[in-house]
Amino acid sequence: MIANHSPYDSRDRRFDALIDAGRPLERHYDQLAFGEGPCYFPLGDYLLFSDIPNNRMLQYVGGLGVREFRRPSNHSNGNARDLRGRLVTCEHQSRRVTRTELDGSVTVLADSFRGKRLNSPNDVVVKSDGSIWFTDPPYGIESHSQGTVAESELDGCYVFCLDPASGTLSTVADDFVRPNGLAFSPDEAVLYVSDTGVGTDGPPHIRRFEVADGRRLENGSVFAATDVGKSDGFRIDIEGNLWSSAGDGVHCFSPAGELLGKIHAGGRVSNVELGGPERNRLYMTGESSLFSVILNTRAPV
Ligand code: MG
Repeated sequence: MIANHSPYDSRDRRFDALIDAGRPLERHYDQLAFGEGPCYFPLGDYLLFSDIPNNRMLQYVGGLGVREFRRPSNHSNGNARDLRGRLVTCEHQSRRVTRTELDGSVTVLADSFRGKRLNSPNDVVVKSDGSIWFTDPPYGIESHSQGTVAESELDGCYVFCLDPASGTLSTVADDFVRPNGLAFSPDEAVLYVSDTGVGTDGPPHIRRFEVADGRRLENGSVFAATDVGKSDGFRIDIEGNLWSSAGDGVHCFSPAGELLGKIHAGGRVSNVELGGPERNRLYMTGESSLFSVILNTRAPV
């Protein structure tokens, strides 16, 4: 447990119903160089997450602690689980998206687009039809602590949709500077994608798109921006609120994009996950630590 004062910073009465003001944050681990990609697996009741500069993935089991899951991890970043409970991972160094099969073997799902290598897949989400949506900014080819320095081969930083059945990789957005975190609304009618780059349309922010025909994005608009730091990754709760990482912790936005409140985690948070047996535990990865706290809301089924 940390923080002698309340970590909660309410900006709207609706936030007070989402948290229990007396509940402290729990710190589970503090030896990260930079945590990312938290992903909960209900079958084993554990969390996997990446420690990018240390080139490893870790596993947290409640009550048991943290152990190394994979090393080297090819400087893995974002993680998701697919419909069959398999791990899907974005790898910076190998510039690919992989799936870890139930027998532990690793299948490459995507590593190039039209014959050119991907930049460095960053974050990933699996839709209920099995399609795999991921972002491809260049962070993993800009610094050796994040991957391996290399030239970009693509002429942009795209948001991709992969049909794992056919292997078809398509771009769904091509006007991002640095597309990063992404998540669907509970009914999957909306996809949110953050841009951590600074472009012609302003400072870093989260954009909102309508999902058409299940596989296309339409009517993009700016949804919200974190007023401290950037939105690297986020999750949506069952009521449609968006819980985003930020420079000072986690910011909670209503489905209309209003800031409802913040959770201060003592520094920058890189990404979050809603998990636990009741799907109501908000996991937070940061620059050194993995935290969590129980919310009064939960992940969609
Ligand atoms: Mg990210």
